[in-house]
Amino acid sequence: MICGGLDIGGTKIEARLFGPGMEPGGSRRVETPRSDAGAFFAALAAQVAWLRAQGGAGLPIGIAMSGVVQPDSGPDSGIVRAANLPIGGEHMASRLRQIAGRALPVMNDAMALAYSEANGGAGSATGASVGLVLGTGLAAGLCLDGRPAPRHGGIAVELGHCGMPARALARHGLGLWPCGCGRQGCIESYVAGPGLARLADGMGIPGGARVLADAPGAEAVLDVWADLAAEALEVLQMTLAPPVVVLGGGLSRMPGVVARLERALAPRLMAGVPPPALRLARFGDASGVRGAALLALREAEGGAAWTR
Ligand SMILES: [Zn+2]
Repeated sequence: MICGGLDIGGTKIEARLFGPGMEPGGSRRVETPRSDAGAFFAALAAQVAWLRAQGGAGLPIGIAMSGVVQPDSGPDSGIVRAANLPIGGEHMASRLRQIAGRALPVMNDAMALAYSEANGGAGSATGASVGLVLGTGLAAGLCLDGRPAPRHGGIAVELGHCGMPARALARHGLGLWPCGCGRQGCIESYVAGPGLARLADGMGIPGGARVLADAPGAEAVLDVWADLAAEALEVLQMTLAPPVVVLGGGLSRMPGVVARLERALAPRLMAGVPPPALRLARFGDASGVRGAALLALREAEGGAAWTR
């Protein structure tokens, strides 16, 4: 059976088809409307229509998106909290039913990365694996034996909004930077793309992360960044101790990022705590949308409620 997925981010909504063996097929990318919910859901409907034009009305379609989607039960079921999208407080499940005429499974994008990589990717055959998105934001998802871990209260592994340890800020003379969640000092504020750009600015390299590769002094900036990122990885090891952490998102494409993080993590870990194997996502940028499509496929094939 073929299937399809939608990857909803702050800048684009990508629709992608997958063949019977989950091989990637055609894709269509549109800008994410940032103005209002009406424009957003119109764009989403057009992407669903495109997928169905390729794969038929019964095509299983799953959705990966940033932010928090409340679980299927409880008074806030289906409500979205997403800082980068104009749909905060919208009832996603109802909107999707209006668009598609049936329920479409929705997955946090970091969980979708973890799920994809735990099924045929870099996190396969490890029992437990974490998918860590290092992009515009920072988020993680956990899979156990190839299945998404239960999300109590709708929270996946919201590592990005845990506080950056004070010892790390003190080491680098950094203050409490504001976060998109409305608080200060979150890990995301320092380690996600905008945080790296701010670090670079503060160390005399204006222009942010995009120029880092070519700029003199970039190595020093990246070493500070890796040290802060290692603190985030250390939090994962002290709480979940996954044997594998699969990296995705734009910052995972920086040359040598795995070796840099491995070097930074070793001195941060408490004695006796094993480091995780750090791996790049096997399915690259398409891994999140692959995870969402796979979720829809498993549900269509009779998969159980664990998929959410
Ligand atoms: Zn935050």
